[in-house]
Amino acid sequence: MYKSKEERKLNDKDYTIDIEKSRMPVRRIGVMGGTFNPIHFGHLVTAQEALGQFNLDKVIFIPTGDPPHKVGKDIASSEDRYLMTVIATAPNKNFLVSRIETDRKGRSYTIDTVRELRKIYGTGVTIYFITGADAILEILTWKNTEEIVSLCKFIAATRPGYNLSRIKVLEKKLFNEKNNKGEKIFVMEVPALAISSTDIRSRVKNNRPINYLLPGGVRSYILKHGLYG
Ligand code: ATP
Ligand code: MG
Repeated sequence: MYKSKEERKLNDKDYTIDIEKSRMPVRRIGVMGGTFNPIHFGHLVTAQEALGQFNLDKVIFIPTGDPPHKVGKDIASSEDRYLMTVIATAPNKNFLVSRIETDRKGRSYTIDTVRELRKIYGTGVTIYFITGADAILEILTWKNTEEIVSLCKFIAATRPGYNLSRIKVLEKKLFNEKNNKGEKIFVMEVPALAISSTDIRSRVKNNRPINYLLPGGVRSYILKHGLYG
């Protein structure tokens, strides 16, 4: 997927989501959405595990855009969060980052992003939406649930101490006899990672170490730009 300088210039802005343009035979893609405020090893391990366990070709990280009235000490700008995600994923050739939500004005809803991905990739690709077990419950109890589940499948990563029974109940409720065409929510065990962005932000604020919780480059970016201080 190497591009000439000219090609890169043409698509400068969205070169990170250019697999559709390079016409590589991508058949199974994972999508990892999040605030990534900041991105940490919990996110990266989860994406890596999904790649292997579900035989995915790529995982696309999609940081959320700026939430209205919320950027400040506790939430870094969408541009900073996008850049930290690029830094964290750069060494992995199967990880990409998309600006779909970074560049969108106003709040992003999962449904808009999934629709857009479908438009880009067509119907020949299976999209696996990767989320933590907590996040999947939120997404699937929101509106447009039926349309979302018709467009993609879900991989729910279990966070430490999580009780799966709520997911099982939700799955039963959503996928009754009528629309149950194969399994739609897959549960995936990830190594016990209690890392969270909330904890990292609080550590920065209190001058406690954050090494070994996130990639060194992201740590440097946070300190260089004085984020979360
Ligand atoms: P915050 O503490 O600010 O809520 P977070 O660590 O939960 O941040 P998000 O950006 O909210 O990170 O999460 C993005 C996605 O990654 C969500 O689907 C979330 O459930 C999942 N996730 C977050 N942390 C982990 C982890 N340690 N292991 C597995 N999945 C995680
Ligand atoms: Mg969270």
